[in-house]
Amino acid sequence: MWPTLVANFAVVGLAVSGWLQLQPMLTSVRRQNRRLLFGLVMSLGAVASMMMSVQLSPGIYFDLRSTFLALSSLIGGPVAAALTAVTVLTVRVAMGGAGVWSGATSVVLVVAVGLLGHAVLGKRTPGWVATSIFSIVSSAAPMAGVLLLPTDAREQAFATLVGPVVGLSTVATFVALSSIARTRKLVEERKLIRAALRQAPDYLYVKDTFGRFVEVNAAVAEVNGFASPDDVKGLTDADLSPERAPALMAQEQRILANGQGVTNLEEQVPDLNGTIRWYLTSKTPVYNIDGEVLGLAGTTRDITDRKRLEAELAESRTQLSTVLTEMSDGIALFDRNGVLRFCNEQYRDYFPLTGNLRSPGAPLESILRASVTLGEQLDVPPDKVDDWVKAVLESLDAGAEEEARLFDGRWLHIRTSPIRDGGATVRVADITKLKRAEAGLLALTEQLRILADTDGLTGLVNRRRLDEDLDRELKRAARDRQSLSLIMLDIDRFKAFNDRYGHPAGDKCIKAVAGVLAQKARRPGDIAARYGGEEMCVVLPNTDEAGAYAVAEIIRSSVRDLRIGHEGSEKAVVTVSLGVSTCARGDETRIASVLVSRADEALYLAKSAGRDR
Ligand code: GH3
Ligand code: MG
Ligand code: MG
Repeated sequence: MWPTLVANFAVVGLAVSGWLQLQPMLTSVRRQNRRLLFGLVMSLGAVASMMMSVQLSPGIYFDLRSTFLALSSLIGGPVAAALTAVTVLTVRVAMGGAGVWSGATSVVLVVAVGLLGHAVLGKRTPGWVATSIFSIVSSAAPMAGVLLLPTDAREQAFATLVGPVVGLSTVATFVALSSIARTRKLVEERKLIRAALRQAPDYLYVKDTFGRFVEVNAAVAEVNGFASPDDVKGLTDADLSPERAPALMAQEQRILANGQGVTNLEEQVPDLNGTIRWYLTSKTPVYNIDGEVLGLAGTTRDITDRKRLEAELAESRTQLSTVLTEMSDGIALFDRNGVLRFCNEQYRDYFPLTGNLRSPGAPLESILRASVTLGEQLDVPPDKVDDWVKAVLESLDAGAEEEARLFDGRWLHIRTSPIRDGGATVRVADITKLKRAEAGLLALTEQLRILADTDGLTGLVNRRRLDEDLDRELKRAARDRQSLSLIMLDIDRFKAFNDRYGHPAGDKCIKAVAGVLAQKARRPGDIAARYGGEEMCVVLPNTDEAGAYAVAEIIRSSVRDLRIGHEGSEKAVVTVSLGVSTCARGDETRIASVLVSRADEALYLAKSAGRDR
């Protein structure tokens, strides 16, 4: 019994392993046909098994046909199951004998179990638990057929053959299913990997120890001008790029000899059109299970675009940094959070006390506060520090232009320009020279203005300025509802003075009288002017007639008190005559010429009344 059953077991092994051997060739066969083919192989196996059955008694046979039936139905589905079942039944009927009905029942039972398993599993590959359960059930179920045998045969069968057959069948089914599942998994993985490699944009290739391509992907075929990867198989580098072949061969022989692959090797290679392209290559030796070298696997990536971008980037970096280094302005870039991202050396150098703080990563706020603490910038009032910091931070969004005075006397022009994505650029220029020139210009202008308004001989304001001032004071007096007075003055008998003492002495005399005017009209707002020749006047804002008269009298007596000798005058000393006119508070006549002519009339009256009055 045992040798026959073991032979049956071997048939199962042979059939399954034969089927598995076929697998790589069947990858392109449709599933339905593959299943039919599986049914056929299982049918042949079942027939072989039945050819070497153990005969219990005439016409009653035991073998492992139910293992084939179970596998065929489970994996092949209804079509394969039908094929194997019909084959087995045909053979069994042909063999004839007492066990035909019992055998047929077993066939139906095991096919039912197999198809049930097929329906439950669907396309899934069974795990080891499912495999175990199926192996036991599909091996035990057909033994129900034994119950149909005549009593003697049945008892004898249970006593001798049923146990070993069920046991062997279980083991055979389990081993067969496990192998099929495992192979299916391997085939699928292999398919996935192959698909991934074929479609990869990088160049992937496997070579044998003679440098022949064993496997390449589509990218390799395409770059070498071949339609299919299969066309490249068997070729060597000598066929693809003869001029590079010796170097590549030497490199690869080195890799194969010392087992050291190359990683990320950059090389420049001309393409089919002669354009230089950059490649990044890694190669590694491939060994078999015994550690013997089989060949090498390589990947090459086209990095021409990356290289070109890198070169462009490096060049624009160089240009930018040249510009930033060579320019005299300081440049800084702040991000939307007010953090310094970038600045050139000049920017740091412009700020003598906080330059070391102005480096990327530093928040503007802390730079500003340090600047205040160290007293770097003038014009930041101590009680307004927070406002100032806030204003500067806000200028990052709004933009600003300011002139900052530093503690060391330098002036900086700081222009803040917001940029589109938030943050701002800050440009700093030294404007100290400009500021100095500006200050000089302002002083000069002031001097010129004073010169233009001043009488050269007396230092009093001149006639041009007087006209302006008188108009302005009249308007102000009208607005403020105040009075305004004007004193006109003329030196008595001055023609005679000139004649007697000479013109230079006359000038000196005019100067002396002007000195009195300047000294006596000293209230803020009083204006002493030379009207022309030896005539002068005093404008007295907010002064009524009595006040003006008093001032005039003081001037008159003060001039007399100078005691400048004047032989041509009946007074024997230099005297002046004065006329006063006043716009009183309610007076509506506020015209300069009227005020002047009234004072002039009064002056004429003083002259005709005897002078020195
Ligand atoms: P009166 O008392 O009536 O004023 O007699 P007067 O001689 O002073 O007469 P008037 O005011 O008309 O004379 C003006 C003279 O003042 C004429 C001119 O010789 C002299 N004079 C005018 N301007 C200057 C000046 O700038 N320097 C000098 N030295 N003399 C001047
Ligand atoms: Mg005169
Ligand atoms: Mg005179």
